Amino acid sequence: MTAALVGLKAFLRRHTLWAGFVAALLPLLVLLGVQSVWLARLARASATVHRAALGNCLEAISTDVQNYYRSAAESSLDLPPSIFTEGRFDAAAIQWNRKPIRGVRRYFLVDFTREPFGHFLVYDPVRETLESPPASDESLAIVVACLPWSYGGGGADSLSPSADERDPDHRIILNPIADGTRLVGVAGMILDEEFFRSDLLPAAIQSALRDFFPEAAREDLAVTVRDARGELVLGAVGGQDSGDAATARFPFVFTDWTLGLRSRDFTPERWASANFRFNMMLSAVLAIALLGGIVLALRAANRAVRLSEMKSEFVSNISHELRTPLASIRVFAELLRLGKVPSPEKVQEYGEYIEAESRRLSRLINNILDFSRIDSGRKTYRFIRADVAEVVATTLRSFEVRLKHSGFELAFEGPVGPLPRVEMDPDAIGQALHNLLDNAVKYSAESTAIDVRLAREGAWVVISVRDRGIGIARDEQERIFERFHRIGTGLVHDVRGSGLGLSIVHHIVQAHRGRVRVQSEPGKGSTFSVYLPVGRPAPGPKIHEAVASESSPLGVRPDA
Ligand code: ADP
Repeated sequence: MTAALVGLKAFLRRHTLWAGFVAALLPLLVLLGVQSVWLARLARASATVHRAALGNCLEAISTDVQNYYRSAAESSLDLPPSIFTEGRFDAAAIQWNRKPIRGVRRYFLVDFTREPFGHFLVYDPVRETLESPPASDESLAIVVACLPWSYGGGGADSLSPSADERDPDHRIILNPIADGTRLVGVAGMILDEEFFRSDLLPAAIQSALRDFFPEAAREDLAVTVRDARGELVLGAVGGQDSGDAATARFPFVFTDWTLGLRSRDFTPERWASANFRFNMMLSAVLAIALLGGIVLALRAANRAVRLSEMKSEFVSNISHELRTPLASIRVFAELLRLGKVPSPEKVQEYGEYIEAESRRLSRLINNILDFSRIDSGRKTYRFIRADVAEVVATTLRSFEVRLKHSGFELAFEGPVGPLPRVEMDPDAIGQALHNLLDNAVKYSAESTAIDVRLAREGAWVVISVRDRGIGIARDEQERIFERFHRIGTGLVHDVRGSGLGLSIVHHIVQAHRGRVRVQSEPGKGSTFSVYLPVGRPAPGPKIHEAVASESSPLGVRPDA
């Protein structure tokens, strides 16, 4: 149990990035899943709600129309029975003249007090009097409409306004008038269809749409009105008629007409599913952004962990690096002090050892100091116009003893002609070459041959160090210039080192506006080339100090 727990902990530590990513991804996916279920439900519900809203809107239009005609009937047809019983028909004419109602084509009266069949009078708005109706379709429609009350028909229970639409060209509203329980007459009006179609309906539609839908939604809605024959009298149907999403009828008059409401582009379902898609897409984009942020944060954390691991490895490596030359120096110094050295040649040899080892020590310490300066941005260079060949020769000379003692053979290939002097910091370039030579010795394995070449290549002076050692895999060739980076210590090689040498070389060469190039093949050896620009003086006066900044090792290859 505990072993499994320890194993899991170790696994999580090794795969922090992935573990963190999965830990963030899983709840996010669950959240997205739950959200999509809820959004789908919401979409279905909103489609129903939308459809209901369409229905309510139509209901409002038809109620509006009904209210208009009912109140018209109330205000102009609700006449006192004395008009009929006392024969004061002119009183009705005066009222209709004083308060004309829009949408009425003709007013009429039927008196049943004198004739049981009915005495018919129609209102003439020009002469403002009631006249006997001429023989016409209109008169016939009035007669037919009033038939139920002839000869004492109808009753007290039917004394409210009603509509007669048997003749669609003459739609009539009738109001039976009683004196007590006795029916004395009928007042009526013939409706003006044109007013209904062009004025009343459009106004009712506009007001209902305004009340039920916000402006943006109104743009998408279309109301259709069809007459008794099913022909469209109002509204337009698009190319592909998807049908009305909701329909309604008028309850009082124009009962054979149909009202319809539809979305021009969207049915309620399409509208809901578009909403669903938009919401899901928004969530997905947010989730991706969140994951991106998490990945970035985890990467930064991972880098920090790696750097701290590299630093502790560096401390252990550097201690070892310091101990080895110190141990040799102590042994040789002891031998000399105890006088145990047999011959003057041996004394000289041991002296050379001590000298070479202390040089190695000071180079190592220089590297550490340089690294610390580079790290804190305090590294400065002193540029002078100098001879690269001289710097190379001096460095090789100081390396000679180390090479001799390690059994290495160094072949130097000089330039064909004289080299131009180059603007540089000779100490820094010497240190860079030193680091490359040091690596060539360290990573040569069985091979003992090192070639150094100095040449001019176009606008560059090139210093190359070639070994025939263990080589470097392609995917590592850029990363070896990163600070502390060492290739799989213990697996590829077990040579100790600080992981600083090449990062310092990179920094020095960059400060010279040069490039470092590595060509290498595992098992065959490596060639490191430093390219220094000719005739491209470093910025500033002839002797000056330049602070070089750390930059990505990706830019270390020469363009040439
Ligand atoms: P170190 O102190 O480890 O040598 P460097 O920065 O000089 O640090 O080099 C980084 C890594 O690059 C080394 O650990 C080694 O793995 C690899 N390397 C450098 N030079 C060579 C070379 N000439 N041949 C093979 N590998 C090399």
